[in-house]
Amino acid sequence: MIRAFRYPLKDLMSEQEARLDGKYTHHVYGDLLALPVPCVPRRTGAPVSGVHRGMEDRVALIDLDGTVADYDKALIREMRAIQGPEDAPYTNRYESGGIRTEIPHVEARRKLIQRQPGFWRNLEILPLGFEVIEDIRSMKFILHVLTKGPVSTPTAWTEKVEWCQRHLSDATVTVTGDKSLVYGRILCDDFPPYFLRWLDVRPRGLVVCIAHPWNEGFAKGGPQEHPNVLRYDGTNRRELREKLLRAYEREGGQ
Ligand SMILES: [Mg+2]
Repeated sequence: MIRAFRYPLKDLMSEQEARLDGKYTHHVYGDLLALPVPCVPRRTGAPVSGVHRGMEDRVALIDLDGTVADYDKALIREMRAIQGPEDAPYTNRYESGGIRTEIPHVEARRKLIQRQPGFWRNLEILPLGFEVIEDIRSMKFILHVLTKGPVSTPTAWTEKVEWCQRHLSDATVTVTGDKSLVYGRILCDDFPPYFLRWLDVRPRGLVVCIAHPWNEGFAKGGPQEHPNVLRYDGTNRRELREKLLRAYEREGGQ
């Protein structure tokens, strides 16, 4: 099968290498090669074809909203702009632990805002999450965005991809209904129900949890402290790097 993809030539194996590796397949490298050339991505290069997808891959999964995209800042601004004079100022969707607490008319307002064209595409970056991205990149993890697509807002799926093209152009992207279906050594996420479900099926995985009020129980010494969850609040960067490095160096299956 001939497939087109765009990766640096240094990331492509020669035909001989590919055969030795037992992963022979055909690809075309963009417009640079006139003819189909047998080659596959190197193990250490960018991921693509699925040929090398496996336990040995150093995949880091990155959530968007509340992790690297400042969903809550935009939502609070828009919710307060349409609140009534008797309404309490909008704060966030969750109480600690990630339990949904919205009353119906507030939820309806939130979904109305989320359906506005450009809402997702124009979210600001969350600097705390990009500190984690910086360390993940420096360790040569394979960067893969893993974000949940809201069922009630199909246009959000497209805008999330557009956001990634603008802010995380070196990442591949999966918009999914269930994050636990996707493999990674690391999941960087802010929402406990999602990362706990992922840990259920990835018991050796590492969760880097971006600090928010709804996940404060996972702080060190907190009631939900978990050996596989590091809650990153900007003060524990050294510990973050140590845990990332350990996850990177772990042999597959350990
Ligand atoms: Mg999130």
